[in-house]
Amino acid sequence: MTRRRWIADTWDEATASIAGNQAAHLIRVLRAQPGMEFDIVAGGRVWHSVLAGISGDEVRFNLIAEVEAEPALPVTLLLSVFKFDRMEWAIEKVTELGADCVVPILARRSDKHLVQAAAARTERWRRLAREASKQSRRSDVLRVEDPEQLRTAIRRSENALRLVLAEQERSTTLHRALTEALAAAGDEVPPILLAVGPEGGWTAEEEGLFDAENWKPVSLGPRILRAETAAITALAVAAALLE
Ligand code: SAH
Repeated sequence: MTRRRWIADTWDEATASIAGNQAAHLIRVLRAQPGMEFDIVAGGRVWHSVLAGISGDEVRFNLIAEVEAEPALPVTLLLSVFKFDRMEWAIEKVTELGADCVVPILARRSDKHLVQAAAARTERWRRLAREASKQSRRSDVLRVEDPEQLRTAIRRSENALRLVLAEQERSTTLHRALTEALAAAGDEVPPILLAVGPEGGWTAEEEGLFDAENWKPVSLGPRILRAETAAITALAVAAALLE
């Protein structure tokens, strides 16, 4: 049976509760009643739950039993800031595809106004990720980190498999780089970092930074994709190989 799913705002080992928009929807639209059954996502785990009570704008649940759930893919996407409507679309889709985390990147060719507005947008991106996580029945919520300068982000997770999507790359495809790395890693799948450039692409200086930090440039094929298409395709390739 498919139960409707809510993402807990607070929880302990036996109970959870939701507030805000989720609770308002449950109370007013779905006419919440004690005894109704739901799945509750709490701390990366999913619980078969029963509605225990409503107080004001908060709904409380008793957690009955853990439901088996698939973890996110171990993929962090460094997503350069580009036109917000397209970027939002990319965040929604990579959430559906199972990415673990998105780091918005302030790249040299990211539009100046968008760079200035990025920090204030982050809450909206988090809300979107939360909605998309719920809709796609994830057991966890995709994390959206605070925007970072490329120079800082590039030094993340030295032990991860770090791949930069680059349209000029001809010899190594993302598919091949991942296949080889996974074969070499055996059972232990390493964390994977994927970096996607802005609409104008990476500058030569940025390519030099990636190079100096030993990121591997990889291709998604001979055609130039828009940044959002590149992000979604990269996640789909990773999902196909990891799942
Ligand atoms: N410089 C390009 C457009 C960049 S596309 C131009 O205007 O001609 C935006 C980003 O998508 C790139 O920085 C890269 O990260 C990714 N991308 C697009 N097509 C790609 C491809 N075929 N292979 C790998 N990455 C690609």
